Amino acid sequence: MVTYEMKPGRNFMIRLPKGGDILNVIEEFCTQEDIRSAALWGIGALDKAVIGFYDGKSGEYLPITVDGPLELASCIGNVSMKDWKSHVHLHAVLSDREGRCYGGHLMPGSVIFAGEFYVRSLTGSPPERQPDAETGLSLWSKGEKS
Ligand code: ZN
Repeated sequence: MVTYEMKPGRNFMIRLPKGGDILNVIEEFCTQEDIRSAALWGIGALDKAVIGFYDGKSGEYLPITVDGPLELASCIGNVSMKDWKSHVHLHAVLSDREGRCYGGHLMPGSVIFAGEFYVRSLTGSPPERQPDAETGLSLWSKGEKS
């Protein structure tokens, strides 16, 4: 297990801009505010979503494109460091007009219709992502290289 003890930092409520790519928008906000670690919670709606299912055998995210309109019924995630930059990791549950849900790892190409996010930044030495040989994922590590 890899653990980091963090302290509460600044708190933000942010309204996301219509038409933006959700991952880019939050990553740019974090870079601008020098947020290196945070917890994220959001709701809203998307015009289009790209979610991924991680295939542990191939070591790849299999993308699923869901055309909107969609409710962003629930979105949670975190910010940590990857390649010396703030990196946003989000998972989303999306619902369509019948209330059917899709869920997965949010990928580039997910377009905001509207979004309200709570960003709780954390202070202390931020978690850093490194390639993990066992899973093929980029996971939090403490300097150990696989
Ligand atoms: Zn994920």
